[in-house]
Amino acid sequence: MNSPSSDRSPTKELSDSQPADEAPAADLGFAPVSNGVDFLKSAVDHLLTSHDARSLKYGVLHLQAAIEVLVKVRLQREGWEQVFSKPGLAKLHDFERGDFHSVSLRDAFTRLEELTEIKLTSTKAALTCLASERNKLLHFGSTSDHEVVKTFAGRALDALSAFIVDHMVPGAPPDETEALEEAQHLIRHALAEIVIVTEARLTRLAPELDAWPGIVIHCPGCTQLAWTFDPNDETSCLFCGRGWGQEYGWEIAPLYAENILGESRHEAAQGKSGWSISMCPKCDEEAFVDVATRRDPNSFLTSACFQCGFVADGELGSCGDCGRTILDPEGIWCPGCWSYRMAKD
Ligand SMILES: [Zn+2]
Ligand SMILES: [Zn+2]
Ligand SMILES: [Zn+2]
Repeated sequence: MNSPSSDRSPTKELSDSQPADEAPAADLGFAPVSNGVDFLKSAVDHLLTSHDARSLKYGVLHLQAAIEVLVKVRLQREGWEQVFSKPGLAKLHDFERGDFHSVSLRDAFTRLEELTEIKLTSTKAALTCLASERNKLLHFGSTSDHEVVKTFAGRALDALSAFIVDHMVPGAPPDETEALEEAQHLIRHALAEIVIVTEARLTRLAPELDAWPGIVIHCPGCTQLAWTFDPNDETSCLFCGRGWGQEYGWEIAPLYAENILGESRHEAAQGKSGWSISMCPKCDEEAFVDVATRRDPNSFLTSACFQCGFVADGELGSCGDCGRTILDPEGIWCPGCWSYRMAKD
């Protein structure tokens, strides 16, 4: 599982010599699973020991490398050729020498889903959430806030832990067991620290969030309950600082459904799962979502349109003909179906 981009071991001064724009790849000198755990260890060390941008950068890069290696270790159980970018051209000789282009993380997820019964929708979202933070760290050389980066890392670690428990530990070959236990230990240790960092930030933001006149909802980026939603204007998440422009509401809504509600548009399209986005009764855009709010974090009784900012607290109706949401709870048909019927009569 080598890639041409790097042949370095994480234990050797990797942070000084790693090409800055790529996640490091697995090293020949390690069995893959222990290589993944080695990257994980390096990631946790970098993330926990320092706040400086450089440490965070390598913490994020090595965490991505760990995720990539471990996902491929799991994929390899479905056949050694699966970890090649082109399984059809895979040669055992190349595999044994570790000399091949390996599958991308995205394709590894797709193959796992196709070859097994595993559903990875929310795992994929959480394990790839680091990408934007990574890019910020790489391109600007500094981070706006170490707490934000650590929170993103915490989300990825949490998902990685679930992936290990659910999909790697069952049926693990004996030579992987010890490394997987060590990975779990490392993640637990890191998460305990990161939770404290995240909580501290939320506590500091609490007065501002409490004072917000509108609703505060989950941020589709960092997943914290800290997006101060404004019906009339673009607003941002107070936790991670990401701005959510209303002109892109139709793009933000699916992000919310996937990252916060754990839904998959792909599966919904195949009729395998629900999809909580509907057409807004005010602006007709597909950006109307059921949201949990800071005041009522455990139920999704409020609906908000990420495009026009319309917010409704319960009490909406649905069209008896086409089923779309309508403003009048007592209403029978939506405006479209009304006019259709009028034209027909
Ligand atoms: Zn955020
Ligand atoms: Zn709308
Ligand atoms: Zn209708």
